[in-house]
Amino acid sequence: MKHADPPKQYDPAMALSAPDNGGLLTINLYAIGENYQRLVREVGPSVDVAAAVKANAYGLGVAQVAPVLYAAGCRRFFVATRDEALELRAIMDRCADGQSGQDVTIHLLNGPFTDGDAALAAARISPIINSLTQLTRWKSVLAAHDDAPQCVLQFDTGMSRYGMSLAEAQRLAREPELLDRVSIAFTMSHLANADAASDPRNAAQLAAFEAILACLPPGPSSIAASSGIFLGKRFHRDVVRPGYALYGGNPTPGRPNPMEPVIALYARMIQARTVPEGAEVGYGSTFRAPRVSRIATLAIGYADGLLRSAGGKISVVHPAFPDIALPCIGRISMDSMAIDITDLPITDLAENTLFEMIGPHRPLDDVATALSTIGYEVLTSLGARHFRVYHEDPS
Ligand SMILES: *Cc1c(COP(=O)(O)O)cnc(C)c1O
Repeated sequence: MKHADPPKQYDPAMALSAPDNGGLLTINLYAIGENYQRLVREVGPSVDVAAAVKANAYGLGVAQVAPVLYAAGCRRFFVATRDEALELRAIMDRCADGQSGQDVTIHLLNGPFTDGDAALAAARISPIINSLTQLTRWKSVLAAHDDAPQCVLQFDTGMSRYGMSLAEAQRLAREPELLDRVSIAFTMSHLANADAASDPRNAAQLAAFEAILACLPPGPSSIAASSGIFLGKRFHRDVVRPGYALYGGNPTPGRPNPMEPVIALYARMIQARTVPEGAEVGYGSTFRAPRVSRIATLAIGYADGLLRSAGGKISVVHPAFPDIALPCIGRISMDSMAIDITDLPITDLAENTLFEMIGPHRPLDDVATALSTIGYEVLTSLGARHFRVYHEDPS
């Protein structure tokens, strides 16, 4: 992948000279480009790799992430809401090599806009049509705009979430005039269990999708998101729609992560203290020191996306002693959390020492598992208070 600027090495000193935010969040844009290319290789040249950049590119910053995906060759993006669609169009108009983003298609998962929404029409946003009601609404938009983009038809194949049913596909076959003037980019569905590779529901959903496609005019189709890509060729069809894998999450849970990690999260130490055996830590006094202990207060809390329920479930590491797990103890506060550093072989820790919460020794998916959630939720919860460093470190 080509870069306009030479890759910059991430320097931890940057963090210490940075403003006194609690968390330092580093985001490796180079790795996002590499992950896109990795998925392109996985599906081969005949399959279009679109990118899900909804929810601010899963919390990582769509203004930084989308241009990197564009530079890596991505020309098709998915967002969830109207405002996300308009924001992405503006970003693309700024980044697209003199072509004003004309070659970028933006699909809106929430469906078609009302006829009066001139901003979406002007931004050439392509809706995902989830129901016959939305189809009717889209046709009224088409009547008013000759230059409207192609749409996407979505069908439900077993998740009972978005999309039309088999019966509605059969109705479209009986009444083809329902699709008069409707230009379809592709037809899509979504898998409910793609992260469980051996689940027979994946093949069942694919078969249900093929039955639906047989009712429709022939055309391209799409069923795979990140995990679906790793279910094999049959699931690739014409368009794949990864999100999580681009951001370094493991699309193949239980197996080694084929993607490059993208984020690291460090928390800054505010102070450390020695407490006697029996000392209580934090709100509700839920932790009682079983021995004389060293306790450090880190400037990161539930307002930074570190769920309050994480108290006692995760551990962090000091970058110089990555093999020593330092448990998070007591309840997590809004702006801080406590860790037990008694086992660290150093006693004179400097203020502002950074502890790794997510990174090379604490992979995103492992942290999510410890929190009884998934990495998707960890990413989208990261919040706005961290000091963010975007870098392009190829290592
Ligand atoms: C969010 C989303 C994706 C991307 O899913 P990942 O699991 O993050 O790859 C793909 N398709 C649809 C319809 C989505 O809503």
